[in-house]
Amino acid sequence: MPVRKLFATEIYSAPLQRDWQPLNRRLLQECLQLQHDDVGGRRWSKKGYPGGYTSYNSLYRLQQISPTFARLEHRLNRHVAAYARALEMDLDDRKLAMTDCWINIMPRGVVHGLHLHPLSAVSGTYYVRTPRGCAGLKFEDPRLAHFMAAPPRLPDARPEHRTWVTLPAQAGRVVLFESWLRHEVPPNPSATARISISFNYHWS
Ligand code: FE
Repeated sequence: MPVRKLFATEIYSAPLQRDWQPLNRRLLQECLQLQHDDVGGRRWSKKGYPGGYTSYNSLYRLQQISPTFARLEHRLNRHVAAYARALEMDLDDRKLAMTDCWINIMPRGVVHGLHLHPLSAVSGTYYVRTPRGCAGLKFEDPRLAHFMAAPPRLPDARPEHRTWVTLPAQAGRVVLFESWLRHEVPPNPSATARISISFNYHWS
């Protein structure tokens, strides 16, 4: 084929570790406990995350206050390093380090609208509880604003040719992306709450 692919948008998805269930059980417990204890976060979520709970505005450095989240950070560091290698990032003497880490709890119908993560290099999510049929993570083609008169793609086009691609949410898995990539979580249709932990890595 005379067609070459340039300017790749690369997304990383892998199991956290082989035996992920024991750490995941503790994370689940702590997510629910913190939701219960975090009065300020619940108050903020009423306006900022209607119907759900996020610690994004209250407990957003969980890796620094919980040994369980610190263990998660330790595991995630290896994935982020592998992702940076795959993308051939030239990190020089600086390194990618976790800055923020927070909880998202989404009962039925809760949405997390389209956004990106400013001031970070790599962002991602670890899935703690993903009831059958729960919402995935939907990414938007970063070139969308430049499409102008470009024709749409076929409904069954390959993922790399689509404008939006949704990755299923699966407990025990890590998804990483570059922080400039816009994404959203569509309305969660599952009766049980979907629980995830999001994080940012800064280059410093
Ligand atoms: Fe996000």
